[in-house]
Amino acid sequence: MNDITIDVLIIGAGPSGCVAAAHLKNNGISCKVVEKNHFPRFVIGESLLPRCMGHFEETGLLDCLMDQKFEIKAGARFLKNGVVCNFDFAKKHTKGWDYTWQVPRADFDHTLVKEVIKKGVDVSFGHEVTDVKFGSSASLGDRNLFPQGVGDSVTTVKDENGNEYNINAKFIIDSSGYGRVLPRLLNLDKPSTLNPNSAIYTHVKETDRPEGVEGTLITFDVVTDDVWLWVIPFSNGNTSIGFVGPTEFIESFKGANTEKLKEMLKISDYYYDRLKDQEFLFEPHIIKNYSKAVNQLFGKGYALTGNSAEFLDPVFSSGVTFATESGIKAAKLITKELNGEKVDWEKDYTGYIMKGVDVFRTYVSEWYTGNLQKIFFHRPENPVIKEQICAVLAGYVWDETNPFVKNHKRLVKTVAKVIDMENEKNFI
Ligand code: FAD
Repeated sequence: MNDITIDVLIIGAGPSGCVAAAHLKNNGISCKVVEKNHFPRFVIGESLLPRCMGHFEETGLLDCLMDQKFEIKAGARFLKNGVVCNFDFAKKHTKGWDYTWQVPRADFDHTLVKEVIKKGVDVSFGHEVTDVKFGSSASLGDRNLFPQGVGDSVTTVKDENGNEYNINAKFIIDSSGYGRVLPRLLNLDKPSTLNPNSAIYTHVKETDRPEGVEGTLITFDVVTDDVWLWVIPFSNGNTSIGFVGPTEFIESFKGANTEKLKEMLKISDYYYDRLKDQEFLFEPHIIKNYSKAVNQLFGKGYALTGNSAEFLDPVFSSGVTFATESGIKAAKLITKELNGEKVDWEKDYTGYIMKGVDVFRTYVSEWYTGNLQKIFFHRPENPVIKEQICAVLAGYVWDETNPFVKNHKRLVKTVAKVIDMENEKNFI
């Protein structure tokens, strides 16, 4: 195959790569997507947040998704010790989308990439990026604006027959998810500050789903402070189920993955009867120590987006929304730069993205300290606090009119402390 020269190379055709490609194409920037797998392909991350609907709308990818009639997610239910905490996205502090979807990602991602191809983007499936070299004008660590001009990076791609070719690009968007292409090649990984957690999950074909809302409701069943089960029903009749917990907890179950998950189901009082006899549609997958972090989100001639940059935890379903938020943001900044405008990547990319990541990091950390669970399951509920937290859970984590965004570090701890004091008073 001949070498290719392009403005922007996108690695990976997941949601992050797709929204980035759509934005670039809509704005007349030449781009190419290289994807290691063939679609449809399985990937985990099936509960979306309302905020990402705006990303699909903005890039012209919403209508094709609407046509798929995915299961509507209008909120989320959390259960613990018989107490139910229901969030309704229509009742949230920040204006914005009040629903999203629960999606089998194979179908969802396939729909997205087909639409991107329809827009005219060149996508090569079964092509894997194996190496990237940056030219002398794009030396790492140099945070100045990258000089425009073809050939700043040379990416080696291998097709399924083992043939190699090069792609010369002015800019690379690394949306390779857990492939983590540039973090690996450029040693950008840093340890996550979150607890080492793991997950085990599969899909079941529900033969006897409860009627009505109960059958379609997304639920997080909290079995102990640090172990929980997700139940995500899809509109195709299948349901995704998965346990999350400390790595040693997941490792403590014996046998094949199916046996482990069957055994774990026994600890869910609420779901055991509904799920115990359902056949697993595939041998459960285990992903260990899933949290990832990097020491920089961009460099000369590249940006990391989606999971290739940061992944926190599945508990608040923030992964796909960060993938689309960062994919669009990187594509916008590259468009500006290729049009000759100055871009401050540190402020407008890292600063912006990390602001949202930090809010979610607080919520994830405080979930596992137990403080957030205290607030969720405290009765009676405080409706104002609930609407403010609901906006965070809907993905609106840049809205500083929301005290639970602006003062996220302090407020969750403080409210939990007040609940503790109230409980002590009642006890005395
Ligand atoms: P991906 O969707 O992973 O796409 C990356 C693509 O890059 C893949 O198609 C891959 O084949 C391709 N690729 C990789 N390497 C190469 C290479 N060398 N060359 C070419 N192509 C390559 N998120 C949510 O929003 N909601 C959830 O409920 C949720 N649950 C989760 C549960 C668990 C247990 C875990 C671990 C994560 C969960 N996530 C969830 C996170 C979610 O999986 C990711 O955040 C999301 O898929 C990221 O999208 P992406 O576009 O960055 O990457």
